Amino acid sequence: MKTIKKPFILDVEPKQLSSVLKPLIKEEYRINQIKEWLYSKKAASFEQFTNIPKDIRGNLESSFILRSFSNIKKAESVLDGTIRYTFKTCDSHYIYAVYLPSNEKKTVCISTQIGCPVSCKFCLSGKTKFVRNLSRGEILEQIMHIENDTGGRISGVLFMGMGEPMLNYQNVVSAINTIISKKEMNIGKRHITVSSMGVIPAIKSFANEMQGVRFALSLHATDDKQRKKIIPNNFDTKIQDLLQACKYYLKKTNSKLTIEYVLLKDFNDTSSDAHRLARLLKSADLIQPNVQVNLIPYNETNNTEYKTTAQISVLTFKKILKLNGITVNVREPKGLDIGAACGQLGIK
Ligand code: SAH
Repeated sequence: MKTIKKPFILDVEPKQLSSVLKPLIKEEYRINQIKEWLYSKKAASFEQFTNIPKDIRGNLESSFILRSFSNIKKAESVLDGTIRYTFKTCDSHYIYAVYLPSNEKKTVCISTQIGCPVSCKFCLSGKTKFVRNLSRGEILEQIMHIENDTGGRISGVLFMGMGEPMLNYQNVVSAINTIISKKEMNIGKRHITVSSMGVIPAIKSFANEMQGVRFALSLHATDDKQRKKIIPNNFDTKIQDLLQACKYYLKKTNSKLTIEYVLLKDFNDTSSDAHRLARLLKSADLIQPNVQVNLIPYNETNNTEYKTTAQISVLTFKKILKLNGITVNVREPKGLDIGAACGQLGIK
C-alpha cells in the first residue's frame, strides 16, 4: 500500500494557519492556542496540546506531522560543552546543528540547506553534495529540538551551519519572522545572525525586510582573484560590490555588520593581506564602530590543501587591523573534538 505523506505543520506560516486548519477548526481562539503549542511551548507531539479537545488533536494527528526529523544523534564536546546534532530528514538526508552554551547565552548554529551549492574549497559543508533547500519548518525544528533536548531557553541563533542562507532566502526569512515574533519564538533580533558568502540582491532585500537582524559577510580574501580561488561559485561577484551592499545594509538597518575572514596558512594570512583588508574597508567607508572583523583561524578538515595559520600570524594580522582603527575579534573554535566548529559540518 502506498503511504501518502502528511504535510508538515511547521511549514505553514502562522498567518496561513487559520485558513489551512479551517476544515478542522473554526474558532480563532483555538488557532491561537495551537500556535502557542507550536511555537511558544514547542510541543513535540499533538498529544501535548492539552487544552485542545481530544477529537481535534486526533484530527491534527491524522492530517499533519509535527516533527520531521528522525534518527537524531548527538555528540558532546568534552572541551567546551558544545553539542553537535545530526538530524535525518524525511527524505533520508543528514543535516547538522550545533548547540553553543556559555554562561550568559544559549546559542544554536543551524543549517539552511542539505549540502551547499557554493562549495567553498576549504569548507566541509561545501564538499557535501547539494540536495535541496531546507523548508521553513525544518529550519525551525532544529532550534525547537535543541531547546527541548537541552532544557534551557535558546537565546541566540546563528545561520552559520550547512548551506548558504541567502540562496534559500524565502524560507530563511519566513523562519526568522517566526523566531523574532513576540507571540511565537520571541528571540531578540539582535541575537540572530545570518552569515553569507554574499548574494547581492538578497543582502539588499534582507536589509530592507529584516531590520535589526544581524548580518555577517564571509569575505575571506582581499582581491577578486584570490577570492575566486577559494569560493569558485561566487557568481563572479566583485568584492567592491559586496562591500557596497554591506554599506547599504548598515545604512538601512543601523544594525551591526561582521566581516568574516578565515585565515588560511600562506594563502590569505600575510601582513600584506592584513594591510590590503584594512585599505579595502577604509575605501568602502566600513571602518566604523558597528563593523567588526571576525578572524576565524582555519579549522582543519580532511582537506589537505589548506592549513591552520600559525598563532603568531593570527596575532600580527589582528594587530595590523587594530592599528588601522578596525574592531577585530578572533573567533575561538568550539566543539573541535566533535567536528562541530565552523566549516566542519558535513559528511566526513
Ligand atoms: N554559507 C554561509 C555560512 C557558512 S559557515 C557563509 O558562507 O557565510 C560560517 C563561516 O565559517 C563562514 O564564514 C565560512 O566561510 C566559515 N568556514 C567554513 N569552513 C571553515 C573552516 N574549516 N574553518 C573555519 N571557518 C570556516
